[in-house]
Amino acid sequence: MQEITDPQEMRAWSRAERSAGRRIAFVPTMGYLHEGHLRLIDRAREGGDRVVASIFVNPLQFGPGEDFASYPRDLERDRAAASARGVNMLFVPAGGAVYPEEPRVRVAPGPMAERFEGATRPGHFAGVLTVVTKLFHLVEPDVAVFGRKDFQQAMLVRRLVADLNFPVVIDVAPTVRELDGLALSSRNVYLLGDERRAALALSRALRAVERAWRAGQADPDALTRVALDTLTVPGVVPDYVALVDQELRSVSRADAATVVLVAARVGRPRLIDNVVLGEGVARDPVAAAAR
Ligand code: AMP
Repeated sequence: MQEITDPQEMRAWSRAERSAGRRIAFVPTMGYLHEGHLRLIDRAREGGDRVVASIFVNPLQFGPGEDFASYPRDLERDRAAASARGVNMLFVPAGGAVYPEEPRVRVAPGPMAERFEGATRPGHFAGVLTVVTKLFHLVEPDVAVFGRKDFQQAMLVRRLVADLNFPVVIDVAPTVRELDGLALSSRNVYLLGDERRAALALSRALRAVERAWRAGQADPDALTRVALDTLTVPGVVPDYVALVDQELRSVSRADAATVVLVAARVGRPRLIDNVVLGEGVARDPVAAAAR
């Protein structure tokens, strides 16, 4: 595995690979890699001849009082994991290389960013789409892989690419979970003591909704109540539950394509999770299976 920190060198490498006829598949991350990230890398290997993964904790997508400074980082371990999984190029730009100055122009994420994560974290998706734009311009990938775990983010990236004509295919991979159902997240390291067990309320709530839907309940309000009943346990503060379509619009009736979104604070971290009703939590890949 090679590693580049300089943005211009990154672009030169990609252009050389592409002009040699090789397809570039790209996995952007904020590092502290876990099996969820590594499965994106597996998919990237299937979708391209060369895999670029980036590690960049993007200050622009953190609000004041959020965890930018304390976001978990471990470049040594990330290098070993990325290399073992077949990454060809690790792009690790310094903050000052990506943002030599505070960017005055930012990507406006539009109405899909107004609700859910966007409502709780003002400016977050403008920060995400701005850095994704910059990374796409530096890496010039043919395909980029994102996780469904961050459903709103993945759909916004799809919108960005469609609305602004980026020549890149967006591949969205299923959420990787622990054996007990907890969705993998770099922020799970913040869960202390009993909070780890309390955090299972999110995936349990998604399963409860899925069961109720399979039993014939299609009313979004009734299904939302099912989720909230399961989420409302000691140590968990629900933020939102919503049943939406692929454009993040509320649905009037749940069907197989409906996505159930949940967010809750469990101790210090705010956790998010989701399920596509027709696919189900149980069909998501389990991290332990890879060990
Ligand atoms: P992050 O490093 O948290 O910005 O995440 C980088 C990419 O990994 C994003 O596309 C996330 O959606 C994806 N990702 C994070 N957690 C998971 C997971 N448990 N399963 C699948 N993809 C994930």
